[in-house]
Amino acid sequence: MMAITSFSIKFDRELDASQYLQLLGYEIEQDPELRFVDKNLRNFIHNDLMCPSCGIKGAVLVSGAKGQLSEKNLKQPHFRFIANDGSDIHDEYCDLREIKPFKDISCEKINFLESKSLATKLIGEYVSKAIYNGFLNRQDIAKFRVWHMNIKNKNMVKLSLREDKILHYSTIYYRRNRNFYEFHPKLGEVKNLNWKIYALDRIATKSMAIFEEVSKHTNSSVKEEDLNKFLKKHELIFDVRFLSDKYKLMLKLKSFISRNSEVDFKTKYELSFLDAFTGVLLYVNNWDFQKSLFMFIDILNAKCGNGVFTDNIVALNPFKDFQMLESILNMNDVNEWLLTKDELDIEIKKEVETLKSEYEIWKLASVVITIQQ
Ligand SMILES: [Zn+2]
Repeated sequence: MMAITSFSIKFDRELDASQYLQLLGYEIEQDPELRFVDKNLRNFIHNDLMCPSCGIKGAVLVSGAKGQLSEKNLKQPHFRFIANDGSDIHDEYCDLREIKPFKDISCEKINFLESKSLATKLIGEYVSKAIYNGFLNRQDIAKFRVWHMNIKNKNMVKLSLREDKILHYSTIYYRRNRNFYEFHPKLGEVKNLNWKIYALDRIATKSMAIFEEVSKHTNSSVKEEDLNKFLKKHELIFDVRFLSDKYKLMLKLKSFISRNSEVDFKTKYELSFLDAFTGVLLYVNNWDFQKSLFMFIDILNAKCGNGVFTDNIVALNPFKDFQMLESILNMNDVNEWLLTKDELDIEIKKEVETLKSEYEIWKLASVVITIQQ
C-alpha cells in the first residue's frame, strides 16, 4: 500500500499528491500524471513533506501511469518515503511502511472531521473551533502522532507469554489482599466442602516472590478467550504502561468533557474519538491537567469559524484497549513463574489430596484426644 496523504509543513495539513501540487501552483491540468515536475520543486517537496505517522522527511514524488488498454489510471501520482537506493526510510514501527507496515493494536487513527454520529460531530466541531481560534493547529495534531511513535519505538516488548496462563494468574491476583480464610482441618467435616478453593488459596501463596509481584498489579481486565486470540496474533507490543500517568490524566479530563456535553458518548468508536481529542488537548498543554481543562472551556466558549474544514485532520487515540494491554503486560512480567492450565489442574489435585490427608490426621488425633479424656 502506498501512503495516500502526507503532511505538508507549508500548508499545515495532510494532502495527496495532486492536491499538494495544485496548492503549490503547479499546472496540474497540463500534466495530471505529474511527470514533468522539475528538480527544484522536487527538492522542495523532499524538504516540506513529512510522514504523518513517524515524522520522517524525504518524500519522493512518483509519477502516475496510465494503462495501455484502458483510460483508467493504473497508478495515481503519489509520494514514497525512500532513500536513494530505494529502501524504505519510515520508522521500523511506522504503519505507513510499504513493506510490512507495523500494525499497532494499542492505538487507533481518528479523523476528527469524519463524523458518523452526533457525538463524533460534536468533537469535530470542537476541533474546528479550536483550530479556527488558534488553540490548536494541525501540526500539533500531526506531532502528537509522531510523539507517540517515538515513545513506542523505545518501549517495545516481546511477549514471552505464549500459552494460556490466565487461571493461575487470576488465582493469585484475586487473593492479593489476603482476605481469605485459611484452611482448618475442621472444615473437612463439612459434607460438600469445596476443597478446590482451599487448594487454590495455597497454590496462590506458594511462591511469595510471585505473590508479592502480582500484589503490585492494580488491574486485571482480560478475558480468557480474548487473551488466547491476542497471543495467536501478536508477539511484539508497545509497553503501554509507559503511558500510565498520561492515561489517568486522559480519563480525568475525558470524564469532565463527557459529563458536561449535551450528547452521550456510547459506542467504542465514539469513546475512541473522545479519547483522541482529550489526548491532543493534554499533549499540546504538555500534559498539564488544569491548562488543558481551561483550554477546553475556552474552546467551548469560542466563536465558530465561517469556513467548514473539509480536509482530513487525523489524530490518534493512543489508549486503545489500554487496560486489557496493561493486564497482558503485567501477566507477561511474571510469565515464567506461571502454570499453564494443565499444570494447574495437576497442582490442584495434589493440593486437595494434601488437604484431605491433613483432615484425616487431624480426625485421628482428635479421636486419640477424646479417648485419652
Ligand atoms: Zn512513516
